Amino acid sequence: MIKETLFNTKIEFIKGVGPIKASLLNKELSLFTYGDLIQYYPYRYEDRSKISKIKDIRLDSNIQVCGKITKTKKEGYKKNSRYIATLKDSSGVVDLIWFKGFSWIEKKLTLGVFYVVFGKISLYKNKICFTHPDISEENKKLYGYFKPKYSTTEVLKKSYINSVFIENIIKKTLRLTYNKIEETLPDEIISKENLLTKKKAVLSVHFPKDKEFISKAIYRLKFEELFYLQLKILSLKMKKKKKFEGYVFAKSLLLSDFYKKHIPFNLTGAQKRVVKECYKDMCSKKQMNRLIQGDVGSGKTVVAFLCMLLAVEGKTQIALMSPTEVLANQHFNSIKNYSIPLGIRVEILTGSTKIKDRKIIFQDLKNGKVDILIGTHALIEKKVVFKKLGLVVIDEQHKFGVAQRASLWSKKNRLFPHVLVMTATPIPRTLALTLYGDLDVSVIDELPKGRKKIKTFHRNENARLKVFGFINRTIKKGEQVYIVYPLIEESKTQDYKDLMDGYKSIKRAFPKTPISILHGRMKSENKSFEMKRFVGGNTKILISTTVIEVGVDVSKATVMVIENAERFGLAQLHQLRGRIGRGKEQSYCILMTKYELSSDAKKRIDALVKTSDGFKIADIDLQMRGPGNLMGTQQSGLLNLLIANLSEDGLLLLKVREIVIRLLEKDPRFLNQENQRILNQIKKFRSSELNWSRIS
Ligand code: ADP
Ligand code: MG
Repeated sequence: MIKETLFNTKIEFIKGVGPIKASLLNKELSLFTYGDLIQYYPYRYEDRSKISKIKDIRLDSNIQVCGKITKTKKEGYKKNSRYIATLKDSSGVVDLIWFKGFSWIEKKLTLGVFYVVFGKISLYKNKICFTHPDISEENKKLYGYFKPKYSTTEVLKKSYINSVFIENIIKKTLRLTYNKIEETLPDEIISKENLLTKKKAVLSVHFPKDKEFISKAIYRLKFEELFYLQLKILSLKMKKKKKFEGYVFAKSLLLSDFYKKHIPFNLTGAQKRVVKECYKDMCSKKQMNRLIQGDVGSGKTVVAFLCMLLAVEGKTQIALMSPTEVLANQHFNSIKNYSIPLGIRVEILTGSTKIKDRKIIFQDLKNGKVDILIGTHALIEKKVVFKKLGLVVIDEQHKFGVAQRASLWSKKNRLFPHVLVMTATPIPRTLALTLYGDLDVSVIDELPKGRKKIKTFHRNENARLKVFGFINRTIKKGEQVYIVYPLIEESKTQDYKDLMDGYKSIKRAFPKTPISILHGRMKSENKSFEMKRFVGGNTKILISTTVIEVGVDVSKATVMVIENAERFGLAQLHQLRGRIGRGKEQSYCILMTKYELSSDAKKRIDALVKTSDGFKIADIDLQMRGPGNLMGTQQSGLLNLLIANLSEDGLLLLKVREIVIRLLEKDPRFLNQENQRILNQIKKFRSSELNWSRIS
């Protein structure tokens, strides 16, 4: 039950709003209450603090001038009619022009009266002028200020709910609520960090006295928002750490056996470091909750396997969960290869495991004969019961919700299994801290030696024949080629058609070459069969949708052609590209697009051609799309931020995080008098997914 407060009052009761406009604002902008409204912040400000001289006017600038109307006239007929007023100040004259439907301004303007005029300078008939400027009588309106601009939607604009309307109702609401806005941060922090008070900040963010107040207000509100965000995450993390006891493992014989005799390569420095970080967790008494971030091809699998060895030696079992069957199969193959010489039993469980085999697996899991179980979602079925689950490895975290993670580790004995999450989505550190705040993060930031950098090119339809020639030469060298097509739910009929047309034309162009095709409509046994043929080198070209997106590892595949590349997201393109460049040969990625590209698509393609660093690409993605759209963030619910921006406010986030950590160390339950406000704020929001810094 939400407490009735002034801030929970419905916006329809604000004068000038009413039920119809209120319901539009509910629908379009999720503004329901007074509280919502005063926390609907402007996205920019117009500088109306200065009055410029008419002689200083320049094309394309936004500018404010003040003068009197010396002349008005109408020109043209009907559709082409326009109304022109001439404004004069001590330095010169300029025309103000209105097209169509200008009778209101005709009535409003009076010769000889002084007006303040604001607008963008444009060109009309080769003359500089204002078109449709904001205009008000000089003595009627305040003009020495920064005007807040609020975003609205087309639907709202049709009902006359524009930025000015929102500005006005916020002004009214703030008059009613200003005195009731409570401080949420301790005085100590406010004075030490030189912050505005909450009241002052909320007022100034809408109606700043001067430029300095805009940035001070924004800073204070961002600070507070990040403060409560981190507080929420870090206190959750502390609780988790305290509550869950994990198995205590010790370094093992298996490990040194594998390390000395069987490991097929030298680990990279980064792999060694991350293995150490995991071991430290697994040998402590607490449950490990660790995320391993590593770009595609950085070698996460072997790191996970080294952790598994520790758990096997500790006489426990391991579950490894993959997002797709193809991937589960591949993990199964490589982990089985590693395991056989060590006498470890590995099984696989997916949707297509036969009933007969299932029964055996279920039984041997229960009696502890299976050491490592690899699979898909099938692993979280009720029937899957481990004798003693010591470690859970989850590959490609973003495909699994948090709920699924939880259900895996609730298959508990007395002790909780350690949890290792691996992701190839290189999330910028600031975001990882926020998003996976309840996990510790390890980063494999080094690729195995001897890898050649993938060369990436952008081509369009004109180059089709050349691309075919290139594919041909690649196959002649004994290497393999991926050709990837987009497939999305909304346009799937057309997408399947494109895929099949592509398949046919490749068959025609390469009649003697064995070709595989892979897509989501195929039965899973057919998918596995085709994948196996390609992995085994029996087919030379794999035409597919993004089902090969994550994790697939074929070292002979050196060329990837991505069709309609403009339709993929940046992170997805990077992941796809990671399927090649896994062997010793030079690899090439060819991004095929149509000729005309939107500017966003062009940016994405350029970024990919220029950079191969997944972290840099993630940063660009974050800047282009905002954190709400990054893979894996949607379900988090943590990121409904009002003002802070994780792609821009990384430094502030780190600073605030330090402050929160110190605070939690000193006064974890907020019992000190000076932290009373924090406690109050937490009590209000404790059990909700809401942003804890809200006014409500
Ligand atoms: P990802 O991190 O994308 O899951 P994988 O674990 O699939 O990467 O590893 C990619 C490839 O690199 C595999 O063929 C693996 O055997 C190989 N590999 C992993 N670590 C090393 C290393 N230190 N040196 C050489 N090759 C390695
Ligand atoms: Mg992998």
